[in-house]
Amino acid sequence: MSRGLIARRRSQGLPGLPYFDGEISLGFDMHALRPLRNYGFNYCLHRAYQVALRRPILGHRRYVNLVAGKRGLEVGGPRAVFRQGGLIPLYDFVGSLDNCNFSAQTIWAEHESGMTFQFSEHKPPGRQYGVEGGDLRDIADGAYDFVLSCHMLEHSANPLRALQEWRRVLKPDGSLVLLLPNKSMTFDHKRPVTSLAHLVEDFEAGTREDDLTHLPEILRLHDIQRDPEAGGYEKFSERSKRNAEFRGMHQHVFDPALVRAMLERAKFPVELLRTAYPNHIIATARKSSEFPV
Ligand SMILES: [Zn+2]
Repeated sequence: MSRGLIARRRSQGLPGLPYFDGEISLGFDMHALRPLRNYGFNYCLHRAYQVALRRPILGHRRYVNLVAGKRGLEVGGPRAVFRQGGLIPLYDFVGSLDNCNFSAQTIWAEHESGMTFQFSEHKPPGRQYGVEGGDLRDIADGAYDFVLSCHMLEHSANPLRALQEWRRVLKPDGSLVLLLPNKSMTFDHKRPVTSLAHLVEDFEAGTREDDLTHLPEILRLHDIQRDPEAGGYEKFSERSKRNAEFRGMHQHVFDPALVRAMLERAKFPVELLRTAYPNHIIATARKSSEFPV
């Protein structure tokens, strides 16, 4: 299909906008219009306001209090969301922060093991672990005051297993700050929300990260129009089939209700749960001492 035809089809999907042939240059890329098509005018206005004024999330202080001066582990990342100017700036408040990533080289970044985790220019680097987020065997029980994770757990084939590990490495009353994509605002919008029962099945079956159970559903229902970074359906499909290597696939699909149910099942009572632009579900939870370790 020619670029012009693709652009035309895309433009015809823009409700309320006049017909536009992508072959005609307007001095900017058609991709610039995608947020307007996908999220609508209100989203664009809110996002522009937030970015222009570099505003953090409302109630930012509540998040800061969970990490200020404390020792933490980020699983996945580092993420712009936690940097100064991001939605929830936290990096500059932590006492220290270590990181774990499943591989030295991911499609997002390179990670060298050792004291190499650079998350803020105002803080010394933390320790980088090259381990699975669901298998923190190098880390002692109760080693951290808080765990951060932003848009990582949807890539896990066994999120309850990962949460069990994160709970283990937290001190009693340690905090979790968890961000997941809200499926209705992402390329997953055509997929059904995963059930808690399914996550429990994965946990009880010991599902491993090379699991491809969800691949057929993903190849059928992934909205490639909302995923320009994927580089087209062919590339996306190839990458997904080799997911154990790349981990780009969203194994499971979340909405706020599932996030709450999953955290409670993992013995993480939820303290705060909200959504935020552009596509975040944000939860904070605490390792309650009511539950045995
Ligand atoms: Zn699954």
